[in-house]
This record gives sequence, structure tokens and C-alpha cells, in this order.
Amino acid sequence: MAILPITVYGDKILRQKTQPVSSVSDELIVKIKNMIDTMHNARGVGLAANQVGFNKSLFVVDLKGVDGYEKFKPMIFINPELLLQSDEKVVIEEGCLSLPNLRAEVERSKMVKIRYLNTDEQLMELEADDFLARVILHEYDHLIGKMIPDRVNKEMKAQLQAELKSIKKRKVEIDYPITQL
Ligand code: ZN
Repeated sequence: MAILPITVYGDKILRQKTQPVSSVSDELIVKIKNMIDTMHNARGVGLAANQVGFNKSLFVVDLKGVDGYEKFKPMIFINPELLLQSDEKVVIEEGCLSLPNLRAEVERSKMVKIRYLNTDEQLMELEADDFLARVILHEYDHLIGKMIPDRVNKEMKAQLQAELKSIKKRKVEIDYPITQL
């Protein structure tokens, strides 16, 4: 088990589009396990590869700690592709391990259909709604270099500026390892 430092707002890798995974090697499996440990350690519900400085198209999700999802097992999405997003949108308050302590209301589709590879390199399709859809859309955003501030309206973005600045300077109190300046 290894806990990796989490990249935070201002780290360039979070703004880069990630590269597709070409094959699921043993090395990649180790990386994925470390990502899951890192997510659990930070009590997150999702973590994208570029949030641990790894420029690959993959993310992990675990909703076990969320009410109603107690039986959830960690899920791994490799080279995900969004097939469908519902027209019906919902506004939910979100946080992000790369934006420590920041919360913002974000509007996203209520339902999503996604295609991805599992760790056995099988092509999978999943239709998700509500909280799982929310987390999938948030993590997918990371893989294309987008974050919460890109998904809120202008007024909200303006309100977040001071907080974003503090995060960039690492002037935040958190209990999980992050990258240093
Ligand atoms: Zn995030």
C-alpha cells in the first residue's frame, strides 16, 4: 500500500488531457491499487490518474462511505468514453481532493452512459444515475483537464478566486499528502 501525494489546483498536469492506456500491465495494476489507497486515505469518492501526477486516462470510484451505497466495491474506469448524458440536469454541491476544502454547487446531467475498459481489458458499458453519475462526470472531467471552477457560472467563479489562490499557494489545512510547490 502506498499513499501518493495528490496534485492540487495550479499543478499543470490537472489541465492536460490525459493519454489513453495502451495495456493493463502489472505495473498499472499496482498504480491503480495505490490510487484506491490514496483515495481512501483522503476519504474521497473518486480519484483520477492525473490527480496523482499520472497522465493516463483512468479513474477510480468508491462510494462505500456514502449513505445508500454501503455495499459498493471500488470501480476502475480505463479509457472511459461518455456515450450519453441526460438532458435532465441536477445541481449538487461538490468537492474535489485537488481543491481542498472548497465546495461549490455544480449542475450536471442526472444520468450518464459510459463505456470503458476494466482491468481485464474487457469493454464495459454502464448506465449510472444520481450520485454515481455525478462522480463519474466529475472524474471524467479531470481526464480532459477540467475542474469544478470550469463548471460553475461566472459569479460563482469570481467568488471562488480567493480560495483558489490559497490552494495554489498550498495555504490549506488538510490531513492528506499533496504535491509541494
Ligand atoms: Zn476532483
